[in-house]
Amino acid sequence: MSIQISTTLRAWWKAGYGGRFSSRESLEDWQDRQVKRHIRWVMARSAYYRELYAGLSIENWRNFPVVTRREMMTHFDAQNTVGLTFEQAKKIAIAAETGDHLPHYREGICVGFSTGTSGERGIFVTSAKERAMWGGTIIAKMLPGFGPLIGGETIALFLRSNNALYEQLGSRRIRFHFFNLVTPLEKQVERLNRLNPTVLVAPPSVLEQLALRMETGGPGIRPKKVISVAEVLDTFTRDKLERGFARSVHQIYQATEGLLATTCSHGTLHLNENCIAFQREYLDNTHTHFAPVITDFTRTSQPILRYRLDDVLRCATKPCPCGSPMTAVAAVEGRERDILKFTDPGTGVKQTLYPGDVADAIASAAPNLLDYGATQQGEELHVYLETGDVSDIESTKHKVMAGLDALFSQKGGTLPLVRWISDWPYRNDIKRRRVVGC
Ligand SMILES: [Zn+2]
Repeated sequence: MSIQISTTLRAWWKAGYGGRFSSRESLEDWQDRQVKRHIRWVMARSAYYRELYAGLSIENWRNFPVVTRREMMTHFDAQNTVGLTFEQAKKIAIAAETGDHLPHYREGICVGFSTGTSGERGIFVTSAKERAMWGGTIIAKMLPGFGPLIGGETIALFLRSNNALYEQLGSRRIRFHFFNLVTPLEKQVERLNRLNPTVLVAPPSVLEQLALRMETGGPGIRPKKVISVAEVLDTFTRDKLERGFARSVHQIYQATEGLLATTCSHGTLHLNENCIAFQREYLDNTHTHFAPVITDFTRTSQPILRYRLDDVLRCATKPCPCGSPMTAVAAVEGRERDILKFTDPGTGVKQTLYPGDVADAIASAAPNLLDYGATQQGEELHVYLETGDVSDIESTKHKVMAGLDALFSQKGGTLPLVRWISDWPYRNDIKRRRVVGC
């Protein structure tokens, strides 16, 4: 246990204080050394990477083969460094989900399924040390000035399941309280009120319901910090939440693969380059959006090397005033499958529309919206709009149509056939998406 606490503290110190780099160059030099050392370590322990990188010069690691989730799962047994087989791992993950007695493996090793939104469910392995490091990093990045030493924070977390990652985090000074996303919110409000958290962490769809309750005399909580996780935080929702909570909304961008980015005091998302080297795979030749290819030089149990995520990140166009050398990103817009791709009927040219652009075009055209969604169905764009006053709907449609038309012409294309739909078909999805691809 003491090893874990010291690991948490070390990671906390490094991410918050010791990890300050004087320049971008010094950060990149340091990362380069970390990655090379880490790859050598992994190659000595993982038969998969030994074979994959055989004959390659480590100096050239930035061009090593890219690995996807599918490949990682196919080669699971030889890929991980803790000697787990896929079958063993699956049994442990199922037991963890159903709450059954866990088959014993090695102490501190946790196995779980990834969220599975992209069809296939992956299996992810973490060690106690990795979870402790994650804890230290997240506390340093999200609670600057508090830290595990001074603290005194009550954190309410709305999660799909009580994750082992977070269980590690509790301390006398910082208390984590879990709220399951499966239980209806009404049944949890009383507990939330009693707790009166100083920090509230939840997906934006849940934050929205809580903000609404506050406005209508619901829970009397007044968190000092509100953090959005697990779903895309579009501009429309962010503005709404900032009005509701009367404070800026922060973000944690993380996946089963690791803690990827967090917001600084200015609310800008910065990549977690303390632990991960990010490379960009640009999604078109305008270089405005990219899919990250990540190399985590701290993760040892199940190495993440040159691993491609299917997330869409929008590049920041200006540096963040906070002065951090960690790369700033403008937004995490969703998954690649939610990029809309229409064929222009006039020219036959394929048009790419990023989910964030579509969401912003709709929301900024009609500030009176309560809710909205857009989805590509073949060559049609299906749009769902909800306004408080039903008599507004026709004029709202008109404005949204103009907004979308402007977006398509700005991208050099033609607006496809727009069909208005009376209900949002993805309402019951595990994660809220406002823009859904084919
Ligand atoms: Zn910043």
